[in-house]
Amino acid sequence: MPTLRDVKPFIQLHLRQRAFTYPAQDQELGVIPLGYEPESFEKAIRAFDDRYDVVEEARVAYQGTSRPILSVSSRSPEAAATRLLVVSGIHGNEQAGIMCIPEILERYDREGGVALRVLTPVNAIGAAELSRFNADGYDINRDFVKFRTEEARLVRRTLEEYRPDFILSLHEGPQDAAFIFANPHVDGALARRLLAALEAGGTTLATKDYFGLRLRPPGLSESTPVQRGILRVWAATLGMMAVNGYAAQQGIPEITLESSWRSPDHAARVRAHVDLVLALRDELAGGAG
Ligand SMILES: [Zn+2]
Repeated sequence: MPTLRDVKPFIQLHLRQRAFTYPAQDQELGVIPLGYEPESFEKAIRAFDDRYDVVEEARVAYQGTSRPILSVSSRSPEAAATRLLVVSGIHGNEQAGIMCIPEILERYDREGGVALRVLTPVNAIGAAELSRFNADGYDINRDFVKFRTEEARLVRRTLEEYRPDFILSLHEGPQDAAFIFANPHVDGALARRLLAALEAGGTTLATKDYFGLRLRPPGLSESTPVQRGILRVWAATLGMMAVNGYAAQQGIPEITLESSWRSPDHAARVRAHVDLVLALRDELAGGAG
């Protein structure tokens, strides 16, 4: 169990959108890398173009190298299909949320009436540099008020054009097990069923979030009036907002998954992300009737 002193550098990250001027690696946060390799990941994703539409949405550059941010979309026959957007790798050093994508694309039922779009890795430079931050040292997931970063503008544009019915953001954090943040538009019963699906797949649910706050039930951080108040102050005073708050403003249900970046069990970290996407797909397919 991480102590408050362990997570203090992480909490401090919530106070600054730009902590560095480059994609800094952080040694204090206890991140255990899973061996992400940008070239082979790109190749693996592009190989899905026999089944999905794979589009290079943007290229981001750092020190003479440029990296693609890819979108992968199901070729859904129905324009009216329910649309699920997966935001992967907005923090480049949270590798489970990126390395889960090939398995998700492999297992996603493309005939099931729930259209899928994945943006990956949103922070392509951070992913290549094992950094939370983009090439200019910005935390992209704090940029949904001012949209200073190209990557946040890409996510905004995707919301405008794709108009997802549901968003999943894939993250990792310093807590000792997995939990989800559910924004105010997420039905509480749905969130509990998704957590049950995670547990059934072998995922351990956290009893405390990364601020040390108790989670009731385990694994669930629901949007409360107090939390919404804090997020409003955060946006108003520091000019910062994450995808979950931005989605809430747009009226879109959003769940953020946080697996434990401290866990040496690589497979378990990836599995939580795969299981959540597939469980939500099943829920949305059922609800669409
Ligand atoms: Zn994150």
